[in-house]
Amino acid sequence: CNKKKYTEVVEVPLPTAQEKVTMGMPDDVKADEGSFQLEKLPYNYDALVPNIAALTMEMHYSKHYLTYTNNLNKALAGTEQENIPIEDIFKKLDMTNTDLRNNLGGYYNHTLYFDIIGTKAGGKPTDTLASAIDKDFGSFDNFKIQFEDAANKQFGSGWTWLVVDKSGKLQITSTPNQDNPLMPRAEIAGTPILAIDLWEHAYYLSYQYKRKKYIEAFFNIINWKKVGEKYEEALNK
Ligand code: MN
Repeated sequence: CNKKKYTEVVEVPLPTAQEKVTMGMPDDVKADEGSFQLEKLPYNYDALVPNIAALTMEMHYSKHYLTYTNNLNKALAGTEQENIPIEDIFKKLDMTNTDLRNNLGGYYNHTLYFDIIGTKAGGKPTDTLASAIDKDFGSFDNFKIQFEDAANKQFGSGWTWLVVDKSGKLQITSTPNQDNPLMPRAEIAGTPILAIDLWEHAYYLSYQYKRKKYIEAFFNIINWKKVGEKYEEALNK
């Protein structure tokens, strides 16, 4: 009889209070002693919802970024590179040293990423960065199309960047894994001022296979004021 299939529905119990996912605060995350610090997250894990899920931010900051920081410090401990600026470590990086290459990139890339996204975000850049984008890409809309296109074309894990090259020009480039445009032999070398993390851990909980949607949403969380400051710094280097 038809009634039977309704009586067979099994009620799934909701998680009890004890089973609820507990999420710490960004400030509770502590790296081991070392020359490179885990930079503070200037917002809470849920600050970027719905563009980035709270659990994604928590894992990304307190697990991935923390691990890169600790591993970098471990790799540099007792070496002469321990006390020199990170840009100089990149300059002399031996690209066959995969442990250092991955952790140095992982540390630098995530430090930048968490810094240039935030709550008072989205919209468009202002001031000198706005005019530089107009000059080098024609318009902000053109820049956005080109940046999204580069990110969509990056196959597998990696990053897409907006960099200031040696001549002061803005350029878009992508790198695989945890590589970046500061590393020797970079296809387009320059100082990164904007970065999107294209690893699955950066978006998968909310977007699954729809990476394109994450790349679009990323434009809602870019802190252009911060990117503008990084642009000025890069020009004055
Ligand atoms: Mn990441």
